[in-house]
Amino acid sequence: MNDVQSTFLDLYEDRLTDFTRISRTAGSRSDYVQGGGGNTSCKLDSQLMAIKASGFRLDQIAPDAAYAVLDYSKLRLFYQNTNSASLDDVEKAGSSQAKDAAVIIDGLPVLRPSVEAGFHSLLDTYVLHTHPVYANLLTCAVEGPELAARIMTDMKMNYAFVPYINPGAQLTFEIDAARKNAADTEGKQPSVIFMQNHGLIATSDDADTCLDLHEKVNNSASVKKTGRPFKWNRFQMLHQKISGSQQHHGSNHTFLIQYGISISLRFRLCTLISWSSFPARWQ
Ligand SMILES: [Zn+2]
Repeated sequence: MNDVQSTFLDLYEDRLTDFTRISRTAGSRSDYVQGGGGNTSCKLDSQLMAIKASGFRLDQIAPDAAYAVLDYSKLRLFYQNTNSASLDDVEKAGSSQAKDAAVIIDGLPVLRPSVEAGFHSLLDTYVLHTHPVYANLLTCAVEGPELAARIMTDMKMNYAFVPYINPGAQLTFEIDAARKNAADTEGKQPSVIFMQNHGLIATSDDADTCLDLHEKVNNSASVKKTGRPFKWNRFQMLHQKISGSQQHHGSNHTFLIQYGISISLRFRLCTLISWSSFPARWQ
C-alpha cells in the first residue's frame, strides 16, 4: 500500500467501514439485490463520495475495493442548477458530468461509477438503493402510490414516489424535483424514495438508520405484513404503459421466478426479453 492510498484509507476509515457494512449487508440478500444490481454510496466529506462501481456486486465492496470516488459536490451542483429541458441530450450531459467528477486516488483501482451516481450525489451521507422483491411488489402495482402512502404514514417517514424513467440523468432530475417538492411541502427531504417499477432508495446521515429504514420499508411492503396489499389479478407490470421500461426489472422477475407465480404468456415473454437484455451498464 502506498502513502497516498493509506492516507486516504486512514482518513476515511470510519465511513468506508460503514459503507462496506451497509453494502455487504444488503448485498448478502438475494431478495434485495440480484447479481450486480443495486448500489450504495457514502459521502466521505463535503466533496468526496465513494459509490459502488459498475460491474461489481454489493457484497464485493470493501474499504479499498469495488467503488469509484467522485466529487459529488460538482455533480450535485449540475443537477441542482440545470434545467434539463435546456439540454440537447440529457443522458450525454449527465454522463459527461459524472466523468468530469471522477477523482483518482493513487493506489486504488480506477473504476467506473454506477450509472445511478447522479441521484446518490443529491441525497444524505449514506445511500442504499436496491431492487427488492418486497418493495417492488408495491412499486409495480397499480395501487403502488396508495400503498406507499399507507406504509409511510404508519412509519411517519418522509418519502417520495417517482415515476418510471430509465436509470440515468433524467431519473436524477426527477428525483431532484421530488426531493425539492417534499422539502417545500413538508419541510424536510425524503428519507425513502420509491421508484416505480424499479426499486427503493433509503438515505440517512447514519449508516444503521439507512439500513434500518430499508429493512422496515421492505417488511411493511411484504404481503404478510400489510395483510392485503396485493391482488394478483390487479398486478400489472407497467411495461405496456411506459415506453422503454422493460429492460430494468430483474428484481421483479426474480421474485416471480422464485415464487413460481403463474402469469400470462405476454408477461412471461416480457420477462424472457428483459433477462436476456439486462445490460451490465445499468448495474
Ligand atoms: Zn436501480
